[in-house]
Amino acid sequence: MADRSSFFYFCTIMKFPPWTSVEEAARLLRQGEVVAIPTETVYGLAGNAFEPKALAKIFAAKERPTFDPLIVHISDISQMADIAKDIPEEAYQLAEAFWPGPLTMILPKKDCIPDLCTSGLPSVAVRFPSHPVAQAIINASGLPLAAPSANLFKHVSPTTAEHVAAQLSDRIAGIVDGGPCQVGVESSIVSLTGDVPTVLRPGAITPEMVKKVLGRVAIKESTSKPGEAMQAPGQCDTHYRPQVPLYFGEVPANAVLPENTVRIAFGNYQGVIPAAVNLSVTGDMMEATAKLYAYMHDLDDPKYDLILVDPIPNQGIGMALNDRLKRASIKTLP
Ligand code: AMP
Ligand code: MG
Repeated sequence: MADRSSFFYFCTIMKFPPWTSVEEAARLLRQGEVVAIPTETVYGLAGNAFEPKALAKIFAAKERPTFDPLIVHISDISQMADIAKDIPEEAYQLAEAFWPGPLTMILPKKDCIPDLCTSGLPSVAVRFPSHPVAQAIINASGLPLAAPSANLFKHVSPTTAEHVAAQLSDRIAGIVDGGPCQVGVESSIVSLTGDVPTVLRPGAITPEMVKKVLGRVAIKESTSKPGEAMQAPGQCDTHYRPQVPLYFGEVPANAVLPENTVRIAFGNYQGVIPAAVNLSVTGDMMEATAKLYAYMHDLDDPKYDLILVDPIPNQGIGMALNDRLKRASIKTLP
């Protein structure tokens, strides 16, 4: 925690979000503080990946259990070898194809990465984000940055700096505003530690895209059938839930909806009530992905009793939307 004379302390007592520049963020990170940074997927809560005390601050600020490992962010493909070992050729092929970008790879970890970062796993998650501000902060700090999404555990991930401020302002040393996130959903995660490259979490880099590069890909069952058992660290069934109950998918014919129900539409689907907002009138998946979390934040207001979200095709990046929305959804209507 910063000392009482600091700008952070001033902002905290004045209830101002601790807005921070790239240079100041880099300085805070080198001092072991945690800072929210923009990336193209969602905002991340960054700390020095080599420093257990900084990692502990990340878990504490988010109230995230330490069994849920963190992704380490780098700003050059060559830095992969600073934190991972026994890197297979396939990792370099994926890096060439999709980095910088919304792809995280799981690789065997080097000893310099603390166990706290990987929740005791012998592997580490690595990503090279494409957001220029994220890259500038990593470069200026000179550190690989561990950064989970900058939200409280199990809450909806932030896609604007204001989303971060609303949840974490008084818990972190800084927030760098890089505008709204372009992708809007967490990175695809591909493990390269087993026999076959395996998608652990769907995202903007789809299994088909990985297969095109590597010629093979497997999909972990828990991500193709979300909303069921928790099978791996971080694959919580109830991740991404707003406070207002959200129901995703077709509404059963006999359902009685609460009076204050609000609907997030997709394309030209005929919902049971008029739409409040539409993820994409033309059914564009990328547009829908970029807008989803902002709508979930906006409509997560106690004046509503229920948020309905229209069905979305479970293909391509739609798999990522289905995965997150199934985790966010109550299983049956009240
Ligand atoms: P996020 O909460 O978006 O930062 O994503 C972090 C997620 O990455 C975790 O919840 C895990 O599902 C996954 N992850 C991180 N490190 C590992 C690892 N070493 N092995 C498998 N999955 C990992
Ligand atoms: Mg998260």
